[in-house]
Amino acid sequence: MDFSRVAGFLVPSLCPLCRQVADPVSPICGDCMRELNRSVVLREDPPEGVDQMVSCADHDGIARELVAAFKFRHLTGLAPLISGYMVDAAGPLAENRLIVPVPPARFRTWLRGFDPVGRLAREMSEISEAELPHAMPVYRKGSGRQRGRNRAGRLGDPPDIRPREDAGKVIGGRDLLLVDDVMTTGATLTAGSGALRLAGARSVSAITFTRRL
Ligand SMILES: [Zn+2]
Repeated sequence: MDFSRVAGFLVPSLCPLCRQVADPVSPICGDCMRELNRSVVLREDPPEGVDQMVSCADHDGIARELVAAFKFRHLTGLAPLISGYMVDAAGPLAENRLIVPVPPARFRTWLRGFDPVGRLAREMSEISEAELPHAMPVYRKGSGRQRGRNRAGRLGDPPDIRPREDAGKVIGGRDLLLVDDVMTTGATLTAGSGALRLAGARSVSAITFTRRL
């Protein structure tokens, strides 16, 4: 429940990122929005197995705070804002494509109570021409512990992403857009792309909200 809406007359709305008083209809304050709008879209160096790669911002500053607030503080009201930036940055990459969120590790979804990347992909499909498949074509086996490990550890032991049995039918040889929230080494996107190609994807491009440089 959005408490600020119920108690709007008593409690001023605060920006979830900087805590200054914000317009209650805006998810973040004007200052944070202006800083976010200064982010430079990154399109270089797709990870192995990915045709084209887009990230809305470097994993730093306000963009990093925004994605962390969404993911770790469960501020799901930020999803439309983040997905909006992703659809803008994707441009033609979101048109007439099947959009596939990187599958979560099951225990993480259970721990968090929601699947942040799945939520972003759903929002993206609602505001663009990209289509979310009725069933997810890939899944992740095991815990997929990537966070908190160093770069060499992540690259040496990428997440185990596999196509489901009916993945070929779901994908139908189409061009895909793989979605994740943050790109760190690219190992997760490479693993996801590999599984999707195995299931017959014609091409696999990827988008993340931020990218660690
Ligand atoms: Zn703010």
